[in-house]
Amino acid sequence: MRKFFAAKTNGILWVLVLFFLYSHVGEAQKSTFKINATGTTAELDSAMRYAVSIWGSLLTSPVPIKINVVYTSFIVNVPTLASTFPNGRKNFNHTPLADTWYPTALANALNRSELNPGEYDMDIYVNADKPWYAGKDSHCPADKYDLVSVFLHEVGHGLGFASLANVKGDAGSFGSLTSADYFPLRTSFPFPDLEGLPSAFDRAMQNDSGEKLTDTVLFQNNSPSLKEQFTSTDVFLSSGQGQLGNGGNMPKVYAPNSFTLGVSMTHLDEDSYGNMLMTPFFDKGSANHQPSGLELGILADLGWNSEAPLSLTDGLRVVVSLQIKEGAVPLEVQFLSSDKEEASLHIYELSGKELATKQMDASETSWKAPSPGIYYYTYTSGLRNERGKFSAK
Ligand SMILES: [Zn+2]
Repeated sequence: MRKFFAAKTNGILWVLVLFFLYSHVGEAQKSTFKINATGTTAELDSAMRYAVSIWGSLLTSPVPIKINVVYTSFIVNVPTLASTFPNGRKNFNHTPLADTWYPTALANALNRSELNPGEYDMDIYVNADKPWYAGKDSHCPADKYDLVSVFLHEVGHGLGFASLANVKGDAGSFGSLTSADYFPLRTSFPFPDLEGLPSAFDRAMQNDSGEKLTDTVLFQNNSPSLKEQFTSTDVFLSSGQGQLGNGGNMPKVYAPNSFTLGVSMTHLDEDSYGNMLMTPFFDKGSANHQPSGLELGILADLGWNSEAPLSLTDGLRVVVSLQIKEGAVPLEVQFLSSDKEEASLHIYELSGKELATKQMDASETSWKAPSPGIYYYTYTSGLRNERGKFSAK
């Protein structure tokens, strides 16, 4: 999860950054971040707190997000500016996808309570050998790196931009990483046995033929065919909301011909989105303090900011009083209410346009989607007001 130096500049970014800088000032926080920092100064701490306040104004969680920062020399002269290790959990309450690793920051938000007491949600190593600019004004000097931008990027990995893909020899794999792969860096929390399972970010990956990379029938785990995919330059994210923030196009993942752990597969494509936050390379003298609509859409599809995360891809989901499941025919979705009183269900497309209204009374209703994709619903019964999303296929 590294952010590298690369030589490129862009003048347009400047205007955007200034605008969004002001938009964050005093903005209400939807989640709380707690930073434990080692080796930093008060000035660096202040820049990092500012960076997390940007995420905090965008993402909702009832559980404080705990970040462990180690500001240290990387000893060997590497281009790496910083490295992030997200802590992970799978199969918790309201898991959108089973047998899938979620960063604990998101798992806690979905679970509605803390799954990892005593453990940090992410460890972030910041390379103390680099020249840092700790200002919050985006006026980064040409010979320094903007810490707010880089820290914002690193925390983005800990929130969901995290792949468990690796390549060893001729084989590509998901979920085979161990702490030894990151030596001499190590995590403050126990590095889990990943059990050959992918991350939520990995689950969204597909090639240009629409084949899911985590489909082990198509691509056996730990195989040359998976390595071929990881190094194909054609890996995309099946992300309805990410697509919405990307002019209808599927977001492209950085998957160059040569695989580098921590860089390949875990960032957005540099050539396609060089000015965005979650690309792998970053210039001296530049600043980006604003996650894009595409990046926020990807995080939303992973499960952020969804009061009732739902997926029909792995069967029935129960959300308090409403069950949603696949119908008998393609694109049909069934809704089962267990409320005694009358409830109303509204269905919307991603743009917010309402598509259907249904009255329900301890009853069942079905709806046929116009096309495969992700839709929103609101469900109101008495004082209960639930909202969430579901997919139709
Ligand atoms: Zn990165």
